[in-house]
Amino acid sequence: MFDEKDVILEAKHITRRFPAAGGKKLTACEDVNLKLYKGKTLGLVGESGCGKSTFMKFLVALDKPDDGEIIYRGKDITKLKGEELRQLRQNIQMVFQDPAASFNPKMKVKDIICEPLLNFGKIRKKDKDAAARKYLEMVELSPDMADRYPHNMSGGQRQRVAIARAIALEPEIIIFDEATSQLDVSVQKTIIELITKLQMEKQITMGFICHDIALVSSVAHYVAVMYLGKIVEILPSEGLEKTAKHPYTRALINAVFDLNMDFSRKIESIESEPPSPLEVHKGCNFCDRCDRAMEICRREAPVLKTVGDDQMVACHLYTK
Ligand code: SF4
Repeated sequence: MFDEKDVILEAKHITRRFPAAGGKKLTACEDVNLKLYKGKTLGLVGESGCGKSTFMKFLVALDKPDDGEIIYRGKDITKLKGEELRQLRQNIQMVFQDPAASFNPKMKVKDIICEPLLNFGKIRKKDKDAAARKYLEMVELSPDMADRYPHNMSGGQRQRVAIARAIALEPEIIIFDEATSQLDVSVQKTIIELITKLQMEKQITMGFICHDIALVSSVAHYVAVMYLGKIVEILPSEGLEKTAKHPYTRALINAVFDLNMDFSRKIESIESEPPSPLEVHKGCNFCDRCDRAMEICRREAPVLKTVGDDQMVACHLYTK
């Protein structure tokens, strides 16, 4: 899909299981393999609880998998500790769904933006005002907001402050975890435009997690689709509505509402709720919801395989 020499971070065989009641295990991620390419945005999409946020936390070293490794600059970041881990935070930043929850409400906007810069000795205290104003302008907010508190701002403005804080350290990678999900649609659009603009200007590598496949494909260069802890398809975002092959990806696309929709036609969607991650199949996890399921799907789990030039699918329809 992209040049392999541009891979800057690679997750290999990431698996994570959580203990659950009755001695069972909840599988959040199973053998996930994904690459981030320099200056490109990976979209990670799937229903709530599919494991996408758990996986992205491993990429920013906020949590550790049970198995697997994440290679960044030649090192497995799942093994980093102490000062090495602290230094990694300069290069890989994260923007959360609810910025208010990650801000100290007693801190002014300028303190929030400049805290990482001061922690890493990038600026002196006397330069804080100027730095905050510069980054506020970068995220298209008035520099005069530097003296406000986050509770005096709208959700969209707070998310822009979170982005300003994330870009201040000039990281190589930023992960956005459902960063627009709590915003009104009109505000969501402006934040997506800002993220796209910053990505292009600064050539930042991004990971964008979202449950909305239309939104993900509008911001990402390539999209990975996750279902019950497994990646079921990876494909370029351009033309995704035509090229997607996996029945689950197709179901996500067909369930998207659009103003130009022909409502005389039946809206296709997945009829049932996802099964419990505590009761995953030995075959394909999607087989109880898939209208194309075959006998083999119940007994053999499909493996992610390359289909065509730049697409991978885990489905017996395409891999046998
Ligand atoms: Fe459907 Fe079988 Fe493909 Fe799973 S492997 S998505 S059940 S056709």
